[in-house]
Amino acid sequence: MANRDNAGASATPAERKMPPMVDVMVIGAGFAGLYAHYKFREIKFTTFGFEAAPEIGGTWFWNRYPGARCDVESLDYTYSFSPELLDEWRWSERFATQPEILRYANHVADRFELRREIAFDTRVTSATYDEAANQWTIETNRGDTVRCRYLVTAVGCLSLPKPPEIAGIEDYQGRWVQTAAWPREPVDYAGKRVAVIGTGSSGVQSIPLLAEQAVQLTVFQRTPNYSVPAHNGAVDPEYEAQVRADYAEHCRQRLRTKGGVPPRINTGLPAMEVTEEERRAKFEEAWKFGTFTLQSVFRDITSNPEANAAVAAFVHGKIRGVVKNPAIAEKLIPKGYPFGTKRLCLDTGYYATFNRDNVELVDIRATPIERITRTGIKTNEREYPVDLIVFATGFDAMTGPLLALNIRGVGGKSLNDAWKDGPFSYLGLTIAGFPNLFTINGPSSPSVLANMLPAIEHHVDWIVDCISHMESNGFDRVEADEDAQNAWANEVAEIAAETLYPQSNSWYIGANVPGKPRVFMAYIGGFDRYIDRCDEIVGNNYAGFSFSVSGANGAGGLTDGFEAMQEQQ
Ligand code: FAD
Ligand code: NAP
Repeated sequence: MANRDNAGASATPAERKMPPMVDVMVIGAGFAGLYAHYKFREIKFTTFGFEAAPEIGGTWFWNRYPGARCDVESLDYTYSFSPELLDEWRWSERFATQPEILRYANHVADRFELRREIAFDTRVTSATYDEAANQWTIETNRGDTVRCRYLVTAVGCLSLPKPPEIAGIEDYQGRWVQTAAWPREPVDYAGKRVAVIGTGSSGVQSIPLLAEQAVQLTVFQRTPNYSVPAHNGAVDPEYEAQVRADYAEHCRQRLRTKGGVPPRINTGLPAMEVTEEERRAKFEEAWKFGTFTLQSVFRDITSNPEANAAVAAFVHGKIRGVVKNPAIAEKLIPKGYPFGTKRLCLDTGYYATFNRDNVELVDIRATPIERITRTGIKTNEREYPVDLIVFATGFDAMTGPLLALNIRGVGGKSLNDAWKDGPFSYLGLTIAGFPNLFTINGPSSPSVLANMLPAIEHHVDWIVDCISHMESNGFDRVEADEDAQNAWANEVAEIAAETLYPQSNSWYIGANVPGKPRVFMAYIGGFDRYIDRCDEIVGNNYAGFSFSVSGANGAGGLTDGFEAMQEQQ
């Protein structure tokens, strides 16, 4: 299994030429971290970054499981900040594979020389605000200490995999892997007896491919998920030409949409206002088209129980149509929660995989797993001997990677205390009591509910603008006001309550992690509306933020040591 701490290299901090002090520390080198380095360099700020992985890429470095690919169309899962970059990169498939997306990230890093100020194989273990100096001190698992004026977390929403939670794993003599930390060297599953635990997006993408090579594949399903066919293939040349005719404008339009992707089939109507035939025809059209259109083809699918039930019944019918064995089809049909309120999956041949003779589905709500044994997985009904166990069990999403940073703000208050009842943040960008700390795609922003590339760009641009505003007005400290933060939390919760989302036990609400507070963690009012709210707040003289002059000495500027180091490079 890939080691997520990778502390293998042995150089000391001095040998590693850590800068003692920079303007901005960026934690994480996925798409968010890379763009943050680019933008801060543009305004001539010094940056340094730590990344736990040995390479850039974030999600696309770690999730190398068979079948891993984006489910936002490649042409939209693309940075927009550079017209030249838009022009020169060509995607080969409608939904690019993990290796191709990782190549794209590397292309961006090469093109803009973004690796220079990043230390890899290094995990941040604490971040502490020093009020007297108005600086943050960052420490790592390799003994580094770096101070900075501004701390930017780019640690991802889906970057902390849940550990295997099933008793007996330490006794297991076979091999086990996690989709979210899939090894870099090939995993040999051909001709093996393979078990997959988990049927979210990662399970749904990997199961068809594992089934093709395994001698026997046993899928352990706790909750069936809704999945729609991706209809992947080469990028449609006609559509690509249309997008490329004015790619920059296409990208601007993403910002005016609810999900960060210009909708391709969208009636804009409430589902129950059309006849049953019309509704069904639109569902068919959306099903044939793929992507998340089934969720947005009518405007009230995730808010009106009747509309939701109509689309759910449509998908149930599709599953029954594909899966030949009616008993297996019934097990695969999601029930008891509204369509789309657990994240929708996009698949290639998922349901049909259960027609194969070498595939077995185990409903672990009916026959719970008791433990993992030396040789396999034991439910309360029988034991399944397996050679390889694949945990596709998901992440401690959104808050997990932030809490793992052991952040301490004003008065030594820990973020873990501040968030013991759930995450509180102003706009998902800043947190009261934690000055000069910015969170890219933090909880209570649209983040995982939007196409994340434009969401990242919006957040990084906002942060850079905010800091530029401070500096040009002579301030060196910014903090969210507690009242504004509480009002934002209420706004986020009220919008969520208008939808059906809180009715399901999803990771959006923390339900997948035992003991996690149940709070709907993302802003669900739409990416467009969120951007408007951010603009309104900035236009209102950054309402809800306090800017001040800390009076601390030595804030800002580079140390001679770092200047010397930069010259050497
Ligand atoms: P990440 O890519 O998660 O990068 C965060 C980085 O921070 C990681 O490299 C991690 O190692 C590092 N890090 C975390 N903690 C520390 C620490 N303490 N010290 C040092 N480094 C640390 N989104 C979409 O919009 N469309 C999609 O199609 C899509 N598909 C996805 C498929 C998969 C399999 C997964 C898991 C997620 C997918 N997402 C998708 C969400 C995806 O996470 C984002 O699109 C995007 O890649 C996030 O980029 P990021 O830089 O914010 O975070
Ligand atoms: P996930 O959606 O959280 O799915 C995890 C699965 O494991 C669920 O079926 C869950 O069941 C099950 N599970 C969790 N803990 C378990 C346990 N202790 N015992 C048995 N079963 C357990 O995780 P994911 O599939 O990795 O996806 C996470 C998110 O990443 C996605 O929602 C999406 O945002 C992103 N992603 C996107 C793509 C893509 O297509 N581009 C691919 C992968 C991931 P319950 O539902 O009962 O909790």
